[in-house]
Formats: sequence, C-alpha cells, structure tokens
Amino acid sequence: MLVVITEASKKNAAMPGWHTVGWHDIVFQTPADWNVTALTGTAKSGYLRVDSPESLSFQVKWDTPRLPGSERMARKVKALLRRQSLPEYVPDIGVVLDHYETVLRKQSRRSRQPLRLERKRPGKLAENRSGTAFSWRADRKATGWVWFCPNCRRVVIAEVVGEMSDPVSAMAARILPTLSDHAGDEGHRWGLYDLVVTVPDGLTLDQYKLMNVYVDLAFSGRPGTLWVTGWGLANLALKDRSLGEWFRANCTGRFKEYTYRIADAEFRGHPAVRLQGLISGVLPVAKAIYRRTFLQPSMGRLEALAWHCEAENKIYVVGHAFQVKSKLNEVAESVVCHSEVQGRGSQK
Ligand SMILES: [Zn+2]
Ligand SMILES: [Zn+2]
Repeated sequence: MLVVITEASKKNAAMPGWHTVGWHDIVFQTPADWNVTALTGTAKSGYLRVDSPESLSFQVKWDTPRLPGSERMARKVKALLRRQSLPEYVPDIGVVLDHYETVLRKQSRRSRQPLRLERKRPGKLAENRSGTAFSWRADRKATGWVWFCPNCRRVVIAEVVGEMSDPVSAMAARILPTLSDHAGDEGHRWGLYDLVVTVPDGLTLDQYKLMNVYVDLAFSGRPGTLWVTGWGLANLALKDRSLGEWFRANCTGRFKEYTYRIADAEFRGHPAVRLQGLISGVLPVAKAIYRRTFLQPSMGRLEALAWHCEAENKIYVVGHAFQVKSKLNEVAESVVCHSEVQGRGSQK
C-alpha cells in the first residue's frame, strides 16, 4: 500500500529515534522510549515530567508571573503601562533562580546532601531565547535553563535530572534546544504517548484521558469542538470486525446529538471511515441556538475521520463539531503516523 506522508505531519515528526511531547504549548523532543510520568496545571502554570527507562528525566515547570500586590492593583498597573506605551512587566530571572535554589536546598536538606548550584552568566540560550543556564548537584544532579518568554509571558525552568553517573549535561544539550514555549503560525502542537497533532488557534483543552493504549484529547472554543484520539493495539481491536464496525461501537457515543452517515474512505493511503452529520431533534437544535446566542459558536455540523495505520498498529480518530468552517482535514493531516517510514522507529 502506498502511504502518503503529508507536509503537515512531516513538520510534526521528531528526529529519528525521538518523539515529540507537547502540553499547553510546551513542546519538545526526547528519546522515543522516554515516557510522560507527570502532568499538571494549565497553560498559565504547570509541570511536566518525562522519564527515561533508566534514571534520567526531563522536567519543565512554567508559570505566568504577576506583578507584586493584589490582582486588582496588578491589573491597574498593567493598564497604566499599556496606556503609556511602556514595556510590560518583565520578571527578574535571577530572582526566579534564587527562589528555585531555595526550593532545591529544602529538598536536599531532607536527603542530607549539600546542594551546589552553579549559574552561568545570563545570555543567549538559543535562537530567540535569552535567560540563564544552570546546573546543580545534591544527591542527584541536573543541567537546565531558566528564561522568561516575552511572547507567551511565561517563566520556564527546564532541566535534565539524573544520577551522578548519568550523561546529564550531554542529554540537556540535545533536549533543551528542541523546546518551544508558544504556538507558531500553524497552531498549537500537542504530543502525548506518541499522539502528535496540531490544533487550530482558539481551541482550549477541556478534557484528556491518558492510558497506555489510548490517548484522548477534547478541545472547545471559537472553531467548535474537537476530539483527537489515538488507539494502540489496532490488531486486537480489528481482529474480528471492520474499521467501520469498530468505529460505530467505540467512537459514536459522543455524537448522540447528531444524525450522521458513515462511509468507507481512504486517508493518506490508509483504510479509513468518514462520518458526516447534522444536529438533530428539537432539544439539541434548541441547545445549539442557545450556545450560539449565549455561550460559544453553535455546533450544528459534525465530521469525523478514523484511519488505521498498520505500520504503527494504531487507529487515529479526529472528530469535529462546527458551525461554519470545518478544520477536520487540517487537523487530521497534522497527525504524525507511520513513523517507521519516516525512520523514527516505534520503540514501544
Ligand atoms: Zn513563549
Ligand atoms: Zn500511518
């Protein structure tokens, strides 16, 4: 079977043997056998950790700094700065690192290993990024960067941590330059357990489910509602039924408000099914009008696409409820699959 690799998915593919992790616009690459082990927070403030099968890990913390004082006072100062065309508040990275050092020192007191933190002179860390590189040693050691991004207005601390014998600084030199901290023109990249997808502007994450064989992300916003799901072990799921039968049994539960048709299709050379639907019944229609009027753009139309990537033994599903313009194809095109063809290798 001829498998077509699209430009959009190629852009999202990681370097050979590595994979992309993306969460609230913190996007980076790690070796493909590293797994997400901690995930908390929001776009404003959160924490993400990815562990190697051995003792190395990469962790990122981000926060949106506020002006000191009350929320109301901070808003007033911000408005005043804007009116006077003065630059926005920029936090002092030295102070951020001092604070981090205090936290680490407290932790190291528990392990009874004195902490040594070394900071480099503030400067350019990578293209378009200035901040401070640092390293620390206690019972473990780490090499990292701390910076403030004037674009997404977040302070980010990112570091590789490992045992004393681990190649921590070499790994940091490979992972840190791959990190981006805000969306590009093409949209917001999400990457979890090898489901990598670009989501259009205006959609925020509502819900997510992460399991070993199943990743499900649900978004909503101005462009409507969007669901992206990656299922592993497709050979077992499709053992005694067609993709269409599997799709009806597993994916249509969230489309209850719609009347739809499902037809066999092809996507990038993969066997696929496509769903097209319209909102139905008096109550859902009333709900849609209510949403359009009071809450968010209504979602009168529905499209979904499921395809079976044999090379990855996965089924991908993208669903989109919208009113005016469907984003389904552009989202589906951005999903990275059949990575063996691209040389990434499935090391799971
Ligand atoms: Zn940024
Ligand atoms: Zn594929």
